[in-house]
Amino acid sequence: TIIKAQKGPSKDIVKIVHVPSVAVGSDGIRVMMESALTARDRVGVQDFVLLENHTSEVAFIENLRKRFKENLIYTYIGSVLVSMNPYKDLEIYTKQHMDRYRGVNFYEVSPHIYAVADNAYRSMRTERRDQCILISGESGAGKTEASKKVLQYYAITCPASEHVQTVKDRLLQSNPVLEAFGNAKTLRNDNSSRFGKYMDIQFDFKGAPVGGHIINYLLEKSRVVHQSHGERNFHIFYQLIEGGEDDLLRRLGLEKNAQQYQYLVKGNCPKVSSINDRNDWKIVRKALSVIGFTDDEVEELLNIIASVLHLGNVQYGGEDSGSAYITTETQIKYLARLLGVDGTVLKEALTHKKIIAKGEELMSPLNQEQAASARDALSKAIYGRTFTWLVNKINGSLAFKDDSFNSKNASVIGLLDIYGFEVFQNNSFEQFCINYCNEKLQQLFIGLCLKSEQEEYEAEGITWEPVQYFNNKIICDLVEEKFKGIISILDEECLRPGDASDITFLEKLENTVGGHAHFLTHKLADGKTRKVMGREEFRLIHYAGEVNYNVNGHCLLALLTTGFSHIVTAWLDLCSCLFSLAATQFKYSLAKLMEILMSKEPSYVRCIKPNDAKQAGRFDEVLIRHQVKYLGLMENLRVRRAGFAYRRRYETFLQRYKSLCPDTWPNWDGRLVDGVSTLVKHLGYKPEEYKLGRTKIFIRFPKTLFATEDALEVR
Ligand code: ADP
Ligand code: MG
Repeated sequence: TIIKAQKGPSKDIVKIVHVPSVAVGSDGIRVMMESALTARDRVGVQDFVLLENHTSEVAFIENLRKRFKENLIYTYIGSVLVSMNPYKDLEIYTKQHMDRYRGVNFYEVSPHIYAVADNAYRSMRTERRDQCILISGESGAGKTEASKKVLQYYAITCPASEHVQTVKDRLLQSNPVLEAFGNAKTLRNDNSSRFGKYMDIQFDFKGAPVGGHIINYLLEKSRVVHQSHGERNFHIFYQLIEGGEDDLLRRLGLEKNAQQYQYLVKGNCPKVSSINDRNDWKIVRKALSVIGFTDDEVEELLNIIASVLHLGNVQYGGEDSGSAYITTETQIKYLARLLGVDGTVLKEALTHKKIIAKGEELMSPLNQEQAASARDALSKAIYGRTFTWLVNKINGSLAFKDDSFNSKNASVIGLLDIYGFEVFQNNSFEQFCINYCNEKLQQLFIGLCLKSEQEEYEAEGITWEPVQYFNNKIICDLVEEKFKGIISILDEECLRPGDASDITFLEKLENTVGGHAHFLTHKLADGKTRKVMGREEFRLIHYAGEVNYNVNGHCLLALLTTGFSHIVTAWLDLCSCLFSLAATQFKYSLAKLMEILMSKEPSYVRCIKPNDAKQAGRFDEVLIRHQVKYLGLMENLRVRRAGFAYRRRYETFLQRYKSLCPDTWPNWDGRLVDGVSTLVKHLGYKPEEYKLGRTKIFIRFPKTLFATEDALEVR
């Protein structure tokens, strides 16, 4: 604890002020208030509800800035944790820190991801209610790191038996494996998760973790065949090539040089300074063993990874007729062996498409361009399928298998690490799905946030004052409604034989949802908006702001798959579920997710990225303001502050302030509520400033509380 001497504001005596960032433990309540005037000025408030002007975005950002400067990366909005990525290692994740947060009341220690983890764990134990921790934020904001911190917290602090140790190891080791196959270096994040993840951790009646289950969402398969400049393919490819043993690589027919592979050179970025592929290979190889993959299974997995690289090197020539033929025999040889298929069949599959004419199946030749697309689509399908297989295998390994254990008695904490709202210069089908997902999460969030406020007021016998807020159901409906939502229309266009295309899709949207208040196209827009919209775009007015989506490829993706490449159908049983109904599938998996989340008590972690340069200490205000907006933090704060800024249990309140009133000092003998009432009347609280509930006092404005705090200081 740093102790600072300073002059008291009203009395000319030297007094002691604890600096909140380091003061914890018995002095926790003081920390919570951060009441000392100097400290409040310097490090801001640790709960945004205590901001004087809670509707001011400027004040919000200023508070974030002050705290960030002091390395205080965590701040609350009520019970929601706002987390800033420090881009440097802070000494705040030690075992000592974990111990400090164990079993301690949320408000008694400074904000921390461990406080959220511990709080969820304790609620699960005491109230026997399943929990979930929802982590959101844009790429590079620190979501995955936060979810790892939560997992580590449970692995280290929860009780364990011998069996449980294996489960803990497997839970922890599932991360490097999933990251190898699902993460990649992007411009925003050197270790960017290219899929969404929901993970259940199951606990037995003693509170020990005994199993787990993972659901993955929307793997970015396009990365397998193409990377933007400065980005890479999934880590596993480079790890295998850099770290794989010589005889393994020989068996796979691979060379120890990433530059040899078409699928690895697009981003022109084979090496990344922050990544050690060779070392990571060892980590992943070991993790696969811990999770329980046999050597044969690993080999099988790597066969497929190698096949994708070989597929990428398959090249085509063109006959005079325009039909494509394969010019790279070696690749076909390796592919045939690794995939266990006949070379001739493979070649035909990569150069022809299956058409059905008059009830008969015919093979019709593809031109060079079409054949290359078919090849890439196959690579993506194989990789996507392998990823799903991998997740299933991990789930098998995490499943609790003891018969004596009844999973009905298990309690669950779910961890959701999912992409935040995305707005780029050019937004495609992918952003559409991601933003739709965020729209749904926001709906859940606001709903639950209001509900828990309301429940607390009711439990305390305080009249509920309705809160005005924006209900984004209208936007969710626009996207997902049966028959007339955007997804239904997309499906319809994709399945319609004949001339369906991106443009007919757009026209159909205009005809069906053209009048909707949250939908616009170039044609429907007024002059001013029209200038900033392309002819092939539609605009959705999301809760967080406007986004233009390009329809290019929305339908194309679907059409591509309807006739081609029977190899996919024959061996991978994938054709129908490739893209054509991708949006619908996503819709259903989201609905499922919402159901899972709704059955649990949620905690929220909102992550913010301080700058685009991945640098420590840089606070890019424009970028941060943007995220505050897209995370809906101001709305969140508004709802949380709609009634009362502050609430505390009577005993806590009385304990802290009893010295300010002769009647309550040194002890109050009567009912707690009477003590608090006597105290606040003595302090001059006006009736409109506070309310007394069954167990808690509710204070409307921070300034009332701060005045009381300051009175404590100057005594
Ligand atoms: P996201 O999952 O939101 O895309 P990550 O969790 O992968 O972002 O974080 C990106 C990078 O930022 C990490 O690789 C790490 O270098 C850094 N980082 C994130 N959170 C922290 C933290 N709490 N402390 C230190 N560094 C962090
Ligand atoms: Mg991530």
